[in-house]
Amino acid sequence: MLVNLKTILSGLNQKAIGSFNIYSYETIHGVCKAVEKTGQPAIISFGASYLNNMSLNTVKYIVEEAAKDLPADVVLHLDHCKDMDVIKAAVEAGFTSVMYDGSALPFEENVKNSRTVANMAHSNGVSVEAELGSLALGEHSNETDIDHGEAYTNPDNAADFVNMTGVDALAVSIGTVHGMYKAKPNIRIDILKEISQHVSIPLVLHGGSGTPEEKLVECIENGIKKINVNTEISQYTVAKLYEIITEDKNVHLSKLTLLQSDIVSEIVEKYIRLFGRI
Ligand SMILES: [Zn+2]
Repeated sequence: MLVNLKTILSGLNQKAIGSFNIYSYETIHGVCKAVEKTGQPAIISFGASYLNNMSLNTVKYIVEEAAKDLPADVVLHLDHCKDMDVIKAAVEAGFTSVMYDGSALPFEENVKNSRTVANMAHSNGVSVEAELGSLALGEHSNETDIDHGEAYTNPDNAADFVNMTGVDALAVSIGTVHGMYKAKPNIRIDILKEISQHVSIPLVLHGGSGTPEEKLVECIENGIKKINVNTEISQYTVAKLYEIITEDKNVHLSKLTLLQSDIVSEIVEKYIRLFGRI
């Protein structure tokens, strides 16, 4: 069943939920297969940067159909969106969660816009994620090509931000990057602990790809409830498909599309098990 982010995050206890980027029929089915196999929930995340791949309505129809017989709930989430009109269209299309990304804006402007989105989305039963602080740009990132540089989330500002906006989840910057790491990751668990002490809503970690597993577990133990994974799913799937095509250049496209869903589900399953620690 499709539920909103607030509902799914409220039932998590000491676990986190994976948010997996989709941009095609095959990637949607890959995530749903992993939910079917594990019996655990997942967030199906459509980045505003993939609007050339699929329309909001197409995503909604395919997800709705794919999710209806699953053994666990899923959230249909709009990832990283700065455009109010696109956010409004996603809410109207039936997305159950949206992320407003005002992280590059001055604090007051980010507060004002995040609050506007929260008011609009909440009146439609839709959850809202916002972001404070900014992540550095790693290698092969597909989230954005603009590097705003790394700015850790300030714990005091985070508390004010949450109180002033009424958002349901807060994406924080504690040393992860969008894409793959260019150097050894330096995840600031100390900053996360401080944010957790100041903020009572669930915290979100962007840049899960390539983050050492023990660090991800430590993040979950210290308040992270939603973890985004994008680049690693793409790299894993492309590498496997390359092997298949190299072995058999005459492989039929219809078979490749099925294999693509299976490969996506393998890597998504790995993360669902790790985040749910099952
Ligand atoms: Zn992100």
